[in-house]
Amino acid sequence: MSLRGKVAIVTGSTSGIGLGVARALAAEGVSILLNGFGDAAEIDALRAGIGSRHGVAVGYSAADMTDPSQIAGMVATAQETLGGVDILVNNAGIQHTASIEDFPAEKWDAVIAINLSAAFHGMQAAIPLMKKAGWGRIINIASAHGLVASANKAAYVAAKHGIVGLTKVAGIELANAKITCNAICPGWVLTPLVQKQIDARAEREGRAVEEVSRDLLAEKQPMLEFSTPEQIGAMSVYLCSEAARTVTGTTLSIDGGWTAL
Ligand code: NAD
Repeated sequence: MSLRGKVAIVTGSTSGIGLGVARALAAEGVSILLNGFGDAAEIDALRAGIGSRHGVAVGYSAADMTDPSQIAGMVATAQETLGGVDILVNNAGIQHTASIEDFPAEKWDAVIAINLSAAFHGMQAAIPLMKKAGWGRIINIASAHGLVASANKAAYVAAKHGIVGLTKVAGIELANAKITCNAICPGWVLTPLVQKQIDARAEREGRAVEEVSRDLLAEKQPMLEFSTPEQIGAMSVYLCSEAARTVTGTTLSIDGGWTAL
């Protein structure tokens, strides 16, 4: 089964993993609605580059994932400009690190809104379109932190465990609607989100960035290697393939052994 002609929304796809997923789906002939923040000229260049390289339509929605009405608007934009929503990749995410005692309430709210509630609102808007089309794929980019915890990441770990639960519910509810819903659980992927954590720690501890990167890996992953956005993209393509037809309501780890420990 070819994915050519399908339409995907990938939230948070102006950077990092989302961009990797958008590129991988576009390479399979999927039209893409990009989403996320960034410089307008850079986003235009991304659209043009992906579109011309793969011969697919590439649109953009600036919807803020903290706002349910903008999320519904993003889904409507995909339908109006690209003809539907066959694949929804809930990827946009932010991080904030602090102990529970010191965690600012507004940071808690923002992490839960973007990393968890946005996926619910996106699914609520997109599922009726997938049902009408008789086919759909929902991919939630969770994390190793959807399966195990780390200190100082209360909101992130709660949101990622939440999205794994949401994935299971959707898998069950949609089991006979030809729509699957799965969560990908990456370990460390070197993206701006992680680079910020490395840089902050290097600054705090007065150590070299390379040394801190190595420590970051060694503390969590038996395999001392970052996964790449391209690899997460390939996993997403697999989840959209005929081979993954009966894979639903589950998690796929790509974490260098993090959760095997
Ligand atoms: P990133 O910072 O490179 O990209 C995040 C994207 O989300 C950007 O496009 C940004 O513009 C967008 N975004 C942020 N806030 C938004 C909002 N309010 N509305 C719309 N878009 C918004 O991060 P990344 O590392 O690529 O992370 C992507 C996803 O992968 C996140 O859900 C993250 O939790 C998850 N993840 C990352 C890693 C990792 O090691 N990098 C590991 C596991 C899971």
